[in-house]
Amino acid sequence: MLKVAKFGGSSVAGPEQFQKVRHIVEADPARRIVVASAAGKRFSDDHKLTDLLYLCHAHLTYGVSCDDILASIRSRFVGIRDALELRFDIEDAFDAYAARLSRDTSVDELVSRGEYFTSLLLAEYLGYRFVDAADCVFFGYDGQIDRPKTYEAIRAALGDSARIVIPGFYGRLPTGKIKVMTRGGSDISGALAAAAVDADVYENWTDVSGILMADPRIVDNPAPIDKITYAELQELAFMGASVLHEDSISPVKEKGIALNIRNTNRPGDPGTMILGDVADERVEEDERFITGIAGRRNFTILTVKKRNMNTSASLRQSLEILDRYHTPVEHITLGLDSFALVSSTAALGDGVYDVIADIQKAVRPDDIQIQEGISLVATIGRKMIAQPGTSGRLFHALGKAGINIRTIAQGADELSIIVGVENKDFEAAIRVLYGRFAG
Ligand code: ASP
Repeated sequence: MLKVAKFGGSSVAGPEQFQKVRHIVEADPARRIVVASAAGKRFSDDHKLTDLLYLCHAHLTYGVSCDDILASIRSRFVGIRDALELRFDIEDAFDAYAARLSRDTSVDELVSRGEYFTSLLLAEYLGYRFVDAADCVFFGYDGQIDRPKTYEAIRAALGDSARIVIPGFYGRLPTGKIKVMTRGGSDISGALAAAAVDADVYENWTDVSGILMADPRIVDNPAPIDKITYAELQELAFMGASVLHEDSISPVKEKGIALNIRNTNRPGDPGTMILGDVADERVEEDERFITGIAGRRNFTILTVKKRNMNTSASLRQSLEILDRYHTPVEHITLGLDSFALVSSTAALGDGVYDVIADIQKAVRPDDIQIQEGISLVATIGRKMIAQPGTSGRLFHALGKAGINIRTIAQGADELSIIVGVENKDFEAAIRVLYGRFAG
């Protein structure tokens, strides 16, 4: 068994968090590769080291002294080293680096030092070998990760029996320069490490006990999702739930490696397990068969009506028009003599009147209506396929709550049922559905 454990910024924010990380790592000998972010916030108005480093770079660029910021970064590292009684001479290493800083220092190199020094401290504390990401995570000339080269280097670094810490968030370009990923990129580094060594599990340790079934700003205390497939996760993310970035999922998803989101502050919680496929799952009568509920506001419905219309031809023409205006269509509903297209209001923008004029010209309909202010609410769940009557219950629940449904769509793979409601009913619809299926 081999696990890659990635710890986010809040998990390595200070010495107490380092202690929790060590307990977690020591509790399971399979956790042989640890990937770490830069120390994050210890309390809500604290600063992430990465933010401070970006700020340093801005000061350097404008020729303003960044000594104070450097001093506060340094003292964070010294504080961790002292509290944990480590030997690493962080003052010496940090001061030597700071002395080299100039207006020409690359921003990527400077901000990568958050992960670099945090990981050096963590490696000593865990008794693991430090492997610099500059030596095992490689970008190509196109700025994309060179996966074959990266995988080979990480495999070589791990060897047969090593236990290693790799800093997240950065790697090296073919020119030898350091390049950072997008913010939150340590998730990507962890996924690359897991894919490189064909890990059994990629654990992503953070400060929440997994992905929640609904947005906690809308539903009080939503339950965490215990198991979810990558396909369901994609639907949830598409429908607006904030989950991991696609880039941090694809390396493990491609290899069918399970991704487990865990809470460093509550290591006993199982978190959310994201799997390629959940085989042989039996759905018990009274069990929750919904995985999650998500939604997005501000869509527009364009309804086109024409008696005896050649629906396929008119639909094709209308879709081509929307395509010309670079407007993706989220849903299509068809009637005998009508169809409705749902697109994001922002994507339509001011072009909406030109779109209508072009459809008038091409289709010559009896009537076109536009309705703005629509929200789409998706109920997502792989188990719904096996449950007759789900949509009936869903519509009944919304109807009983007095929520008018404007459009209905079922995802082609039957993973989701999506209803369009008025923006004013958005939150109520999510609460009603959560209460009906998950509460
Ligand atoms: N430290 C970087 C950031 O804050 C990367 C990461 O934490 O994953 O964005």
